Order: sequence, then C-alpha cells, then structure tokens
Amino acid sequence: MQNVIAIDGPAASGKSTIARMVAEKFHVPYINTGNMYRAVTLYALQKHIDPDCGMAREKLSVILPQLQLDYVENKEGKLELEMNGALVADSIRGPEVTESVSQISSIPEVREFLVAKQREFASRGLIVMEGRDIGTVVFPEAKYKFFLTASPEVRAKRRLAQGGEIAAGSTVESVAAEIAARDEMDMKRKISPLRKAEDAILIDSSELNIEQVIEKISSYINK
Ligand code: C5P
Repeated sequence: MQNVIAIDGPAASGKSTIARMVAEKFHVPYINTGNMYRAVTLYALQKHIDPDCGMAREKLSVILPQLQLDYVENKEGKLELEMNGALVADSIRGPEVTESVSQISSIPEVREFLVAKQREFASRGLIVMEGRDIGTVVFPEAKYKFFLTASPEVRAKRRLAQGGEIAAGSTVESVAAEIAARDEMDMKRKISPLRKAEDAILIDSSELNIEQVIEKISSYINK
C-alpha cells in the first residue's frame, strides 16, 4: 500500500479546495499535481515553444532536464511549488497557461518527468495528492482513492465565481465549454488519461457543500 490519499477528478470539480482541507484535517502535506503540469506549461511558453507546433515535444524534451521543480515547506509547514529556485508565479493559474496545459501534459516526457517527482514526495510519509492520474497511474496502490466530480453546469458556475483561471468577459457557457474541451483532451490522451480508478470512491458534489464532501471523505479515512 502506498501512503497516499489520492484525489482525482475533472477540471473545476472542487479537488483543490477539498484536497487542501482534507490535508489540514489530517495534518498531512498536500500536493496539487495540476500546478506541476501548469509550471511546465509556463516554462514552455517562456521558452517560446508553441504547444500546437509539431516540434513542441522534441523542443520541450531537450530543455526539460534544466527545469528544477520542487515542493518546499514554508513557515507554516505547507508545501509550495518552486520553479528554478523561485516560487511559481500566479500566472500558472491564468487563462494563457490553462489554454495550453492539456497539450503540454499529453507529452510523454513531461509525464515521466513529473510522475517521478510525485513518487519521490510520497516517500516522506502520508500525503494528499490531487490530479487526474494519481489513483490510476502514479499510485495505483494508494491507501485511499477518491474521484470527485460534479455536473458541468455546477462546475462552470463554481469556476466563474472563483475567477482566476478564466478570461475576462467569461460567461457560464464559455467557462463550461472551456472545461469540457480540457476534460475531453484529458480523457482522450493516450497516456494516463483522466479516468476513475476502479477502486476509487466516487463523490458527486453537485448537490453537496464543501463540509459534506469533507465529511464523506473523512468517514472513509477514519474507517
Ligand atoms: O488540476 P488543474 O486543472 O490545475 O490541472 C491542469 C491540467 O494539468 C489538467 O487539465 C491536465 O491536463 C493536467 N494534469 C494532468 N495530470 C495530473 C494533473 C493535471 O494531466 N495529475
């Protein structure tokens, strides 16, 4: 068994909020693997690699070994992502990165690079890790596996209320379309597609508030 609480699910399913709160409740560190894929995407954009261009994979593979990505503990004991020695910029959650992240994360060399790092983190003790493939590929033997979802409309409304990743002038419809496009790319990619692990517990939060979701997850962990 791997010492991991794996929380997977589609875009805007509430994973980050829930994963952070579960980690706080059980006093364990939390890693958001989406931020790692976003940091690599930002790095690619900074290096002027066009994710749509046929050479993106080759170009990125060459410079990937120079990218230093690390989760380091801050004063409060929380893990923060550093890229080449500096805290990652808020722009990793901005619309530009969001638009390209699914393409970059379908590159096999990128996944290999990040999955190796994710496995390293779990050797330090129980950890909450959130993403798309944590329960299926990164930690298939995780002690606890949850798959969070919610209806497309609920997810779009939550994302719109949250701001951040969305472009100015977004509507529920435009956000729903962006989320659906990203989910489709994440579900259809050849390696490590987004899917529920057979042994993961499915939680549909369309009709639940945050506390109710935390309660459900905690009841399984406490069992
Ligand atoms: O979780 P978040 O929405 O920030 O993830 C951004 C993107 O990173 C996803 O749409 C997906 O393409 C990629 N990702 C992934 N595998 C993970 C986590 C995120 O492919 N474990």
